[in-house]
Amino acid sequence: GMSTAFIGLGAMGYPMAGHLARAFDTLVWNRTPARAQAHAAEFGSAAHELSSLAHADVIFSCLPTSGEVWEVLRALDGQLEPGSVWVDCTSGHPQAAREQAAWLAERGVHFLDAPVSGGTNGAEAGTLTVMVGGDAAVLERVRPRLAFAGKVVHVGPTGAGFAVKAVNNALLAVNLWAAGEGLAALKAGGVDLGAALDVINASSGRSNASENLIGQRVLSREFPATFALGLLAKDVGIALDVVAAHKGAAPLLGSAGGLYRAAERVIGGSEDHTAALKLVEQMNDVELS
Ligand code: NDP
Repeated sequence: GMSTAFIGLGAMGYPMAGHLARAFDTLVWNRTPARAQAHAAEFGSAAHELSSLAHADVIFSCLPTSGEVWEVLRALDGQLEPGSVWVDCTSGHPQAAREQAAWLAERGVHFLDAPVSGGTNGAEAGTLTVMVGGDAAVLERVRPRLAFAGKVVHVGPTGAGFAVKAVNNALLAVNLWAAGEGLAALKAGGVDLGAALDVINASSGRSNASENLIGQRVLSREFPATFALGLLAKDVGIALDVVAAHKGAAPLLGSAGGLYRAAERVIGGSEDHTAALKLVEQMNDVELS
């Protein structure tokens, strides 16, 4: 029927589904049920068992990787309604998107890869950027349902949304790490990092890392865990798979892949992604403060 379903009430999914519940009749499911019950109490969504969500005409998912999306798809096999649309907001894998779209098409269900950027702040504000791969006509059908979005861009066929997201996050990873290396050198030379960032942010070396992340999360020593380091390492790995699929030459992104895998091991995958700079600190025997 005409209802919206949301699977995966994590750091992103919880506030995203909140915007849906304020605007539409919304069913929610989360692996840990207490989180779905809290969501129902906070936003007026309806917490159900997974199989009940199969009857919605638009089903959103926001899970760690395409692997967990496969788990819920298989759990719902035989229950999905022909004509419905599955909108996967996971930062997933383009190859998985093509396989999942084909699997769903055999069951009469449309698939859009629709990953998001803007972080937990953007999810709470309802201002996320959504990059969508798949049939443009299907996107037009669900566009009014994207209550958590500030900007929606159709970027190409199935898998293109995940590819763009992976490249965006590879750029985040490179910019963050490179800023960390440069600031570590300045710190070792006795430069005040607040003054250095003030200059860089008024100059051509600025990035979201220099303008927001490093001041708010690293210099402050807060490292608030809103986006896990392990998830960013995953995204850089997807970007490298996109490069490899076209036999591309991207040695800088390859280095980023190795560095973030190392940081995930040494610092911890559930730490905030900005805690990767603690490895840069160890490598340089300085603190970025
Ligand atoms: P979280 O770790 O906060 O949430 C993960 C969600 O997936 C939880 O609801 C968790 O359930 C659920 N889950 C995990 N494993 C399974 C499983 N095997 N079966 C069913 N459910 C499962 O992640 P985020 O919300 O941060 O990230 C979600 C996606 O969004 C990722 O792909 C990430 O890369 C992307 N993203 C994250 C951003 C951020 O700033 N955090 C920004 C943009 C994109 P449970 O509660 O039971 O653990």
